[in-house]
Amino acid sequence: MSLPAVAVSQSPEDKFREYLASRARPQRYTGQQRDLVHYIFSRHNHFDADQLIDDMKRAGFTVSRATVYRTLAKLVDAGLLRRLELGPRTHYEHDYGYPQHEHLHCDECGQMIEFQAPAIEAAIQEVCRQHHFRASGHTFVIHGACADCTRARVAKRRLDLI
Ligand SMILES: [Zn+2]
Ligand SMILES: [Zn+2]
Repeated sequence: MSLPAVAVSQSPEDKFREYLASRARPQRYTGQQRDLVHYIFSRHNHFDADQLIDDMKRAGFTVSRATVYRTLAKLVDAGLLRRLELGPRTHYEHDYGYPQHEHLHCDECGQMIEFQAPAIEAAIQEVCRQHHFRASGHTFVIHGACADCTRARVAKRRLDLI
């Protein structure tokens, strides 16, 4: 499940190349980085570094752990990905070309539900304005149990009572 994409002028790959070239010490765009960028931007997803490494290896790519960690940090810095703090592991998702949204995270099955709420956006802007604060972004994750997990739990409780 993903939200409709936002039109962008550049491909994620071109934007990342531009970022690498604009560094104080320009960096080379390597084959592994290209595979990573293509893979990550082929579908919208919430993932952590280890999941990404496993998925890519299963898909037949050769990726080194160090390159993945370094490249993820650069993709965040370049504005292509954003970090989501979901507990002990850092998760990532598309930022570039994807609308601002918030999350419901099911702590039982791990499902992530995305939603857009203009009222939350407005409240955040208002708080920032009051504090003369220039926001660069935010993460808003509501933890709990999704409808399926709640239903399963209620059903189990009913069985326990019989
Ligand atoms: Zn669930
Ligand atoms: Zn999301």
